Amino acid sequence: MLSQRAEKLFSSPTLAITAKVKQMRMQGIDVIGFGAGEPDFDTPHEIKEAAIIAIKQGQTKYTPTSGLPKLKEAICHKLKIDNNLDYIPEEIIVSCGAKHSLFNAILSICNKDDEVIIPAPYWVSYPEMVKLADAVPIFVYTSEENSFKLTPQELRKNITKKTKAIIINSPSNPTGALYKREELLDLTEIALENNIFIISDEIYEKLIYDDKKFTSIASLEKEIKYLTITINGLSKVYSMTGWRIGYTAASNHIIKAMSNIQDHSTSCPNSIAQHAAIAALEGGQECVESMRLEFDKRRKYMVERLNNIMGINCVVPYGAFYVFPNVLALFGSKYQNYHIYNANSLAEYLLEEAKVAVVPGEGFGSSQNIRLSYATSMENIINGLSRIEEALGKLIKI
Ligand SMILES: *Cc1c(COP(=O)(O)O)cnc(C)c1O
Repeated sequence: MLSQRAEKLFSSPTLAITAKVKQMRMQGIDVIGFGAGEPDFDTPHEIKEAAIIAIKQGQTKYTPTSGLPKLKEAICHKLKIDNNLDYIPEEIIVSCGAKHSLFNAILSICNKDDEVIIPAPYWVSYPEMVKLADAVPIFVYTSEENSFKLTPQELRKNITKKTKAIIINSPSNPTGALYKREELLDLTEIALENNIFIISDEIYEKLIYDDKKFTSIASLEKEIKYLTITINGLSKVYSMTGWRIGYTAASNHIIKAMSNIQDHSTSCPNSIAQHAAIAALEGGQECVESMRLEFDKRRKYMVERLNNIMGINCVVPYGAFYVFPNVLALFGSKYQNYHIYNANSLAEYLLEEAKVAVVPGEGFGSSQNIRLSYATSMENIINGLSRIEEALGKLIKI
């Protein structure tokens, strides 16, 4: 018998799509994948070199659980320069990816039956992490008219005596929604009034387009900073998904609790990757800008073409590397044995008929949307969208 804890989890829909695509490719089928949740670029050369040097110098032993002092200093420096945040190394913990940081943060603050507000559409792992902590995810649905952003009214309506925290992910995976400073202030003032934690997942902070500005929630006000747990990592910015380095900045008592959990579960993050992370944070940042520019080109092309396809309506994303188009207008149509009635059935049709992999929105909390990642080559994007257009052209209304 498995534990109730394990049995109440859903598997990750993004990883499921990736597995299916791999299987089709093994059978020799040419599939174009828009499922990727990671940059398609290689990790920059200097970062890889730093790791090689670390290995050669024997930096291959345990480090302090919360990370190398030099890395924590580099993180404090980054938070000051980029985000106008004052943190000391005692307020930082490095973990095995930002996913691990989020998990430990949630475990550190949640008791059984505590409620955690999650604006929907949401990143697939938030609800499962909350459930693992025996707490309860409370989904608050946002509208496309408001560009998938939570309104203060909706937040207020969903706060109860049991509310422990809210998770804000700006820019968002899957919607690309980016909150303005004033919008964050309005939301966080409500959190402050009710004394609830704000978990701010800032992993896509550097991937922002059209001259929009990023605001780090903890930089808004002193009182808000005290309640905010800032999560960030190197995976998306430096194309370092496989290195597994994420970090948390928060009040020292939270960091201590997270460190205790880490002491008895994973210990320190990988020592070699920590040295690479120091090089990434302290080295030149040109690589970040060149990746961002490339993503931006693809984003513009993708949004424009999707919006020209009948039945698809795509809100312009201002951050991250995903589009989350609405496909409701296609429901109730068919082609041969395929009946389209939700995002899942559409994704299945696109995979089998067009040989294009997209992620159905159900796992993100929306059955009217699909997620396409533009972390793939322009050539794939051009060809993949042509295939989608052709397949959707075959659908007839019933
Ligand atoms: C990718 C991602 C993360 C975690 O990335 P790590 O590789 O674990 O650092 C966290 N939040 C969101 C929204 C993501 O998309």
